[in-house]
Amino acid sequence: MNFKNYIREVPDFPSKGIVFKDITPLLEDPVAFQKAGEALLYFTDGLHIDKVVGIESRGFFFAPLLAARLQAGFIPARKPGKLPRQTRKQEYALEYGADTLEIHAESISPGDKVLVHDDVLATGGTARAICDLVRSLGGEVVQCNFLIELTFLNGSDKLPGIPYRSLIQY
Ligand code: AMP
Repeated sequence: MNFKNYIREVPDFPSKGIVFKDITPLLEDPVAFQKAGEALLYFTDGLHIDKVVGIESRGFFFAPLLAARLQAGFIPARKPGKLPRQTRKQEYALEYGADTLEIHAESISPGDKVLVHDDVLATGGTARAICDLVRSLGGEVVQCNFLIELTFLNGSDKLPGIPYRSLIQY
């Protein structure tokens, strides 16, 4: 299946110069949605995974599905102020300014084998922040996987030593 047929490119969204990769056509198509989930799952073949961390917001479409299939726990990495219990935060740089993501501190136990999932790997700052967060709690990131990779931004350079996979490359 050519998954690119289900990605809509939206120029100048959310700001000028960005070509936004809209994955909602893929989510709306039952066959494409199911096959994309299976393909992401296939990336983890042979890996033992205890927890799947999904990154707010668009990482939440597939991460819980992967967690359920892997019989692993799902952990949401959220924007600040959304999680009620004690959290561990990680700040990371954006093109302009900075952002923060957090997870419940007790959701990762030392030695946990963790899959990190997001929709798009762009500059890699977001995924790297989550990997740092997981490792600061004693978890081991066994893979980062993404629906889409913007290879021209070299985001994988920010994930040295971390196995990563992506389903669709631009
Ligand atoms: P980065 O930290 O630069 O790798 O950016 C990754 C995050 O930004 C992901 O959570 C994506 O959802 C979002 N993102 C970055 N660039 C795009 C894009 N061109 N289209 C859609 N989402 C994007």
